[in-house]
Amino acid sequence: MKSSTRATGARNAVLAAALALTGLAVQPATAEERAKDLFGAEKLPTATAAQSFGFYSKGCFSGGVAIPMDGPTWQVMRPSRNRRWGHPAMIATIERLSRDAVADGWPGLLIGDIAQPRGGPMLTGHASHQIGLDADIWLTPMPDRTMTRTQRENMSATLMVDDKTHLVKDALWTPAHTALLRRAASYPQVERILVNPGIKKKLCDTVKGDRSWLHKIRPFWGHDYHFHMRIGCQPGSPNCKAQEATPADDGCGKPLAWWFTQEPWRPNKNPDAPKARDVMTMANLPRECRAVLDAPGPATAEAATYNGGAVPVAAAAPEPQTPSEPATAASGTADLPAAMNAFTATPQVGVPVPRPRPRLGN
Ligand SMILES: [Zn+2]
Repeated sequence: MKSSTRATGARNAVLAAALALTGLAVQPATAEERAKDLFGAEKLPTATAAQSFGFYSKGCFSGGVAIPMDGPTWQVMRPSRNRRWGHPAMIATIERLSRDAVADGWPGLLIGDIAQPRGGPMLTGHASHQIGLDADIWLTPMPDRTMTRTQRENMSATLMVDDKTHLVKDALWTPAHTALLRRAASYPQVERILVNPGIKKKLCDTVKGDRSWLHKIRPFWGHDYHFHMRIGCQPGSPNCKAQEATPADDGCGKPLAWWFTQEPWRPNKNPDAPKARDVMTMANLPRECRAVLDAPGPATAEAATYNGGAVPVAAAAPEPQTPSEPATAASGTADLPAAMNAFTATPQVGVPVPRPRPRLGN
C-alpha cells in the first residue's frame, strides 16, 4: 500500500487521542497497519485450508469460498462490495437454506453481506462478519427474474419494522417469513440469528407448536431489512473463539420487554467516538491474520467459487517451493497453485448446480 498522506496520519492521531480519553489502550497506528484498510483491499481469499481465527468481531479467515452470484434459488445483492465470501461451511449452509426455503414456499434468497475474501474488519458497516461465519439474508423475497448488476446495487430492501413503535408492519409480515427463520434456526450449525426486536416479538406472539428454535432468534438493533445468520466455530479452526451459548428459554420474557422501553433507543451520548474498525490495527487481531494477509490466493475468483455438490473440502496448502507472488485475477499465465484442489467440487449428491455467472450489464 502506498505511504499515506499527512492528513490521514493526523486523523489517526486524533482518533488515538479520543481513545486515550476513554482510557482504552491503543496501539500507535500508522495507516499502513490499519486492519480494515489491509483486509478491505484483498480481492481474493487465501488458497489454503479453511480456518477461522479469532472472534466474530475481531479476526479473519483463510480458505474462503464465494457463493456464486446466481443460483437456482438465490441471487447475490450489492455485488460491488465483494462480500460474498465465507468459510465453506457458511457458504454450504446458505446454499442449503436457499433450497430448503424454496421447498417451504419462500421464492429464493437475496443474499447480503457475508464477508470480505479474507475476512477482517470492513471499510464500512458491520462490527462482526470477520471470520467467515456470519451472513445477512434479506427479508425481501427474491424476484422471479435474474436481476441486472445495477438492479442488485440499487434495489431497496423492504423495511419490515415501524421506526416509532418498533413493531413489525403487519401488512408485510407473512407466514413465509416465519418459516424462513424457523428453517435457518433448525440447522445445528446455526447458533444464533439476529433480528430486530419487533421481529422477535412477532415470532414470540405468533409461533405455535414447537417453540424450541426461538432461543436462537436474538433481538438486536437494526436487522429490520435482513436477518443475520451466524454459525459456530467449525472443525479445523482451533483458534476460532466461540461465542457464549444463547439461554435455553425462548427469550420472549423480560429480556425482550426491555427492547420496548425507552432505554435501548436513547440517542448515543458519544456519537462521534471512533468505531472499533476505524482504530483496529493488525496488532489487535490474532497473530495468524498477518499470515492470512500474506498467503497466496487462487488465480481467479471463479476458482474459489462454490460450485454445487457437497461442501468444498479445503486441503492444506503445500509449502511453496519458491517465493511466489500472490496470484491476482489479472494473472492469466500463472499456473494454478497446487492448493486449487481445495476448490474442486466433490461428487454430486443431488444438489442442483448453480447456473454459470451471467454477464450482467454495467
Ligand atoms: Zn450482519
